[in-house]
Amino acid sequence: MSYHVNKKGYYGQFGGAFIPEMLYPNIEELQQKYLSIMAEPEFKAEFEQLLKDYVGRPTPLYFAKRFSKKYNTKIYFKREDLCHTGAHKVNNTIGQILMAKRLGKTRIIAETGAGQHGVATATVCALAGLECIVYMGEIDIARQAPNVARMKMLGAEVRPATSGSRTLKDATNEAIRDWINNPEDTHYIIGSAVGPHPYPDMVSRFQSVVSEEIKWQLNAAEGTENPDYVVACVGGGSNAAGAYYHFLDDERVGLIAVEAAGKGVETGESAATSILGKEGIIHGSKTLLMQTKDGQITEPYSISAGLDYPGVGPMHAHLYTSKRAEFIPVTDDEAMTAGLMLSQLEGIIPAIETAHAFAIFENKTFKPNDIIVVCLSGRGDKDLNTYIDYFKL
Ligand SMILES: *Cc1c(COP(=O)(O)O)cnc(C)c1O
Repeated sequence: MSYHVNKKGYYGQFGGAFIPEMLYPNIEELQQKYLSIMAEPEFKAEFEQLLKDYVGRPTPLYFAKRFSKKYNTKIYFKREDLCHTGAHKVNNTIGQILMAKRLGKTRIIAETGAGQHGVATATVCALAGLECIVYMGEIDIARQAPNVARMKMLGAEVRPATSGSRTLKDATNEAIRDWINNPEDTHYIIGSAVGPHPYPDMVSRFQSVVSEEIKWQLNAAEGTENPDYVVACVGGGSNAAGAYYHFLDDERVGLIAVEAAGKGVETGESAATSILGKEGIIHGSKTLLMQTKDGQITEPYSISAGLDYPGVGPMHAHLYTSKRAEFIPVTDDEAMTAGLMLSQLEGIIPAIETAHAFAIFENKTFKPNDIIVVCLSGRGDKDLNTYIDYFKL
């Protein structure tokens, strides 16, 4: 069994491209060209050069001595927090900006909730000298002022979505409307392993540099390319897809996906999509999503803006239903506690999204000789106010 996408754009029963007819030309162009463009030697060379000189790759694989001692097992951190802009998201936006240029596009659109993907997109548009328009719900604009300022500083235009709940899903609708109206010159940069085929696969491939590096780095440190477990938090699923990618079809490597349980899986204020979700269509792909009996998408909740998403990418929906990956829900309180503990045990303040991944060690026991790699997806600077309010620091 393969856990990679098939030729039709499916992971098991999940994926595909469920899009308005007006978008067929754009999506078909991408479907037909993305693999050959990514395979071009010049494309690869340019991507690798930018990952090295601009993003700062390879990111370290750090053996966390004190953290390992506390949980009596061997734990490595893959330091995506050290990427330029503070998280893994830029690996994907670099790849997609190069893709946009190869497709002859001059204008970039994106949507953002917390603003992290908006910042990563505005960054690469500045780098490439392309026009950048970021759609963002009016409410999110008010909640995420520092990221709005960053996007503006980087030269992007932030357009408020004023309809519906004025949050991420409304911003997504606006971005899709824009793309329908500007099919010729515009590329839509999606920020996670979600959306119609080929986005989940394209994003996963750009992020797969994470597991490619883990393999040789772990080999240098431990004499084996394969950890016993890879752990990552899952919002839409891009950092997890990158950290799992080269281990997907090797079942000796256990995959652990950590979801935001918010106030608790059963409280109605949660974002534990795989556990609570049912099959449905969101953002152009068939996947698991949180919905009412009539198929209305339910508002998710998590203290972390980056995990606060009602769906999950189709790869992860398949990893869940096939049981290839173990999904563990972590509450706000557990994540916040883990974030503070990691800060004081290792001197690393993680993003709150990332802190979820570190909380699993409180409840799950590993063997002393197990080798575990945790994807440290981002740094916590953006979350300091939330930490301060929570802990009354
Ligand atoms: C956006 C974000 C996430 C969640 O997105 P994925 O696509 O699931 O990786 C996780 N961690 C950080 C630091 C983020 O910024």
